[in-house]
Amino acid sequence: MNPNLINLIINLVLAVVTGFFIYKDARARDFNWLMWTILPATVFFGSGIVSSLLILLLLMGVYLFSRPKGPLTACPHCKKRIHSILAFCPFCRNSVKRECLRCHETVDWEATRCPHCRSTNLTDS
Ligand SMILES: [Zn+2]
Ligand SMILES: [Zn+2]
Repeated sequence: MNPNLINLIINLVLAVVTGFFIYKDARARDFNWLMWTILPATVFFGSGIVSSLLILLLLMGVYLFSRPKGPLTACPHCKKRIHSILAFCPFCRNSVKRECLRCHETVDWEATRCPHCRSTNLTDS
């Protein structure tokens, strides 16, 4: 088999695996996922397996450093994993936080009472 073809296949597998991981994580964080999913294709500029791995390692480092930090939680509507600071689910577009109608603070979806002013007067959606 042609060594260039083997190299191409390895690059393709590396780009797809990295792109898939970044797509899932960036989508859940609502963070430029289209751009970050395409970026692993830069692996094709590498001239061998070592330089391909270095490109992807660098890309992953930059991604992990610049992505919005914080844990993921399940969306109360579609149950997909989403970044906990988001007010709207990036998948089903539903609101995942309530608003207190008295002090206008954002309140967790599961809460029945505002943690700031103890009011039970929260928005339904
Ligand atoms: Zn959702
Ligand atoms: Zn309140």
